[in-house]
Amino acid sequence: MGLRSCSFPRYREVDPVFRLSHQPLIPIVHACDSAGGFVTFEGKVRNHANLREVLRLEYEAYEDLAVSEGEKLVAEAVARYRLESATVVHRVGLLEVGETAVIIQTAAAHRREAFAGCEWILDQLKHRVPIWKKEYYADGDSGWVGADAPGPNPELDAQLTQRQRRLAEIGDAGQARLKAASVLLVGAGGLAAGCLPYLAAAGVGTLGLIDDDVVDVSNLHRQILFSVEDVGRLKVERAAQFVNLLNPTVEVHRHAERLTEANVDRFVASYDWIVDGSDNLPTKFLLNQACRRHSKPLVTASVHGFEGQLLTVLPDGPCLRCLFPTVPAGRCVGTCAENGILGVVPGTLGILQANEVLKGILGYGEFLSHQTQLIDLRTGDTMRLSRQMNPDCPVCGSGMDICDPCEVESISAAQARFGEYIIVDVREPDEEPHLDCAHVRLPFSGLGELPEGNLVVVCETGTRSLRVAARYLAAGRSNVVSLRGGVASLAPDEPR
Ligand SMILES: [Zn+2]
Repeated sequence: MGLRSCSFPRYREVDPVFRLSHQPLIPIVHACDSAGGFVTFEGKVRNHANLREVLRLEYEAYEDLAVSEGEKLVAEAVARYRLESATVVHRVGLLEVGETAVIIQTAAAHRREAFAGCEWILDQLKHRVPIWKKEYYADGDSGWVGADAPGPNPELDAQLTQRQRRLAEIGDAGQARLKAASVLLVGAGGLAAGCLPYLAAAGVGTLGLIDDDVVDVSNLHRQILFSVEDVGRLKVERAAQFVNLLNPTVEVHRHAERLTEANVDRFVASYDWIVDGSDNLPTKFLLNQACRRHSKPLVTASVHGFEGQLLTVLPDGPCLRCLFPTVPAGRCVGTCAENGILGVVPGTLGILQANEVLKGILGYGEFLSHQTQLIDLRTGDTMRLSRQMNPDCPVCGSGMDICDPCEVESISAAQARFGEYIIVDVREPDEEPHLDCAHVRLPFSGLGELPEGNLVVVCETGTRSLRVAARYLAAGRSNVVSLRGGVASLAPDEPR
């Protein structure tokens, strides 16, 4: 398969097109005078796949549905990449080695958009358009599979994992357990960059990725699943591609959405193990509670500067809230954007998360289920702190406390709780934007005593403000709450 770029005059009038063809494909050169870049991609049938010799290929589609989904996809690409035009033609039927399976043509004012739009269509096509593929090998056929899923391949599985199967703790039986296991990674960022490759390489059968974020260039120093070319693209899409290239026998589920109270149960219930790769406390607490409800093991980690901490919450062991009934008072709090982070720190902690999951699936070694491991990568020092079940834990104790007592979801919620209240902004003086509502400014770095009265503490993301509120709650003051989500949650139509 290859990408070609050249410039042509007159193309703008052509509408976005998606069609299926039962006949061999021949690229058509379109005229275009407003496009500076014109990209044609041709996908070919090759003579090998996943270490097997391929003789021919067959595509089958639900044609009406495929065309309607394909048209939507192409229109979306035109809007997303400001394309002058885009055309996709996909073959159906029996194809010989060397034949063209798909042609994608994009035109844009600049070559960058033309390339990006073409590649995006190719990525999306594989799992959004219902076209099914059967590969005919010299030693049998693959059966019908989704066009981006290679299907079962015992030979590749066996070769990939032969070195680890020699370990007595794994063997063929352990490898089968890995194949049958499913793991959800919440967050496709720096922790996932350490964790995901090792879970995929070890042969965990199903991996789920949930993250609604796109790649930013400031992520790349630690989120090494991505490259500069991925900037602006969905993290779950690129991370899934990384896995497909590393180990195509792994099934990857992409969930390009944010984890919320509304969807957390659905996700947690669907996987065997949950890995928390988020960088915010509300998500960690949300997962902690959901994993308790569904009796699912959770491996969570936090990073801060050069330090990290790691712990595993088993269904019958102490949970995150046993340790922090209100909120962590430790050092590993705050987002990477606020505090700064060295790339190897989440990478290291992410690998250790993978290690916890592998131990759990395979049943050897000891978990960090009654300890918290602290690691300082400046010195290599590690320390383990003991953890116990806490009879006063709001999650494990009597009655499940779904709402954090020192956090509110909105200003409306604070008003319902308190009536009168004062907003306290604990961001630093140089942080934008300045609030346009009545508030007191008390920077977190030099925080003194808070004023009397009912207080709603806000910061950029709701992390520092939660620490402040928790500190006061622990000291017996129950009229201080943190605004979840930070200043972004100060919706303009809300009472202030
Ligand atoms: Zn607990």
